[in-house]
Amino acid sequence: MSFQAPKGTFDWIPPRSERVLAIREALAAPARRAGYGYVETPVFEDTALFARGVGESTDIVSKEMYTFTDKGGRSITLRPEGTASVVRAVLQHGLHNGQLPVKLWYSGSQFRYERAQKGRYRHFWQVGAEALGAEDPALDAELILLAADGYAGLGLTGVRLLVNTLGCKECRPGYRAALQEFLRALDLDEATRARIEINPLRVLDDKRPEVQAQLAGAPMVVDHLCGACKAYHEEVRSLLTASGVAFTDDPRLVRGLDYYTRTTFEFVHDGLGSQSAVGGGGRYDGLSEMIGGPSLPSVGWALGVDRTLLAMEAEGLLADESAGERVQVYGVPLGEEARRRMFLLVTELRRAGLTADMSFGAKGLKGAMKGAGRSGARYALVLGERDLAAQAVQLKDLTTAEQTEVPLAEVADILKGKFS
Ligand code: ATP
Ligand code: MG
Repeated sequence: MSFQAPKGTFDWIPPRSERVLAIREALAAPARRAGYGYVETPVFEDTALFARGVGESTDIVSKEMYTFTDKGGRSITLRPEGTASVVRAVLQHGLHNGQLPVKLWYSGSQFRYERAQKGRYRHFWQVGAEALGAEDPALDAELILLAADGYAGLGLTGVRLLVNTLGCKECRPGYRAALQEFLRALDLDEATRARIEINPLRVLDDKRPEVQAQLAGAPMVVDHLCGACKAYHEEVRSLLTASGVAFTDDPRLVRGLDYYTRTTFEFVHDGLGSQSAVGGGGRYDGLSEMIGGPSLPSVGWALGVDRTLLAMEAEGLLADESAGERVQVYGVPLGEEARRRMFLLVTELRRAGLTADMSFGAKGLKGAMKGAGRSGARYALVLGERDLAAQAVQLKDLTTAEQTEVPLAEVADILKGKFS
């Protein structure tokens, strides 16, 4: 019997796995430069946290969660997103009692029982950032900028930013009622009709073409905003413009949770087919209260690492994938005594800050040199019995095939000089 990774999941293996590591780092780098601290929360939480914090009427909670009962009879869910956990951690540790906003970033696996397809997986990775406890258009603009800088840092040029506002407690109810009235008159299936009553904004986000076709004349939230929301949104937009970030106003962009307020945004890439969203976020002023905390107006985003890699591939940024150098130096010992000495030498090189590997298993010169070639190393160190007697080693430049003899005691310094 042989096993395969579960449906909708896959393994990252070298050399691609190196790209994924680099993407996580690059997406997080701008937030770290802006003073966001790292937070790591458990991969699973009480089911009720997500039910309340993400919302019962969302796709995530209604059909995508991995939920199970643990041996102690608790209902546990593998996290489908990061925000609810971060807010829970902030409240639990009282971080909101210190200086506000609390700025945090995270990087981790998420789990959603989705219809698996390219760019839509059951186990995927997000990098996220959240700023909690401040209502300030500059904070919304900062987060949007940090995400845009993350994509730019990877060399991506085809990421487009869509921006919208969802209004607030004052103006949203009026809009919600107008939208419901419009939606009730449409020809929709039972489940969607039910959604009109619970969470009408979510209907605007329906991806089916037959639904989208009917939404053409739907009322827009921009036409229902109160003065404060209008001013807030204008300020976010003008800060983005002043910072040189290109964006498109998308009055149809929604996040369908009731506590999402004001700024909402999404990053899309046109090289990804229907799974075009590479990241998204917005303001969620009501979330803390939904999970039993005080009022804590907050804004954040989550960027999809897997789709970002697909976007890089679509832009041809991963072309030289196989050319990667795994190590700088590769040891080729010939004989038992040489193997022992090489083991020590390779250890010395690594401790000196170089990357180094050596031939393992009883391989002859030819097999070991093949390993050196595959490792991508610039230099091979060939150590035979005669070299040992002379306390020397043959340093071979694998790009020019040029070979020089160097004293064993000096080889680490010589190699360090070559790579500095
Ligand atoms: P979609 O509309 O594509 O389902 P979403 O609104 O559910 O996306 P968010 O919850 O906002 O997505 O998550 C932020 C980002 O995480 C998305 O923009 C996307 O890049 C990524 N993402 C979400 N779900 C998946 C998934 N199942 N597989 C891979 N990446 C995902
Ligand atoms: Mg989704």
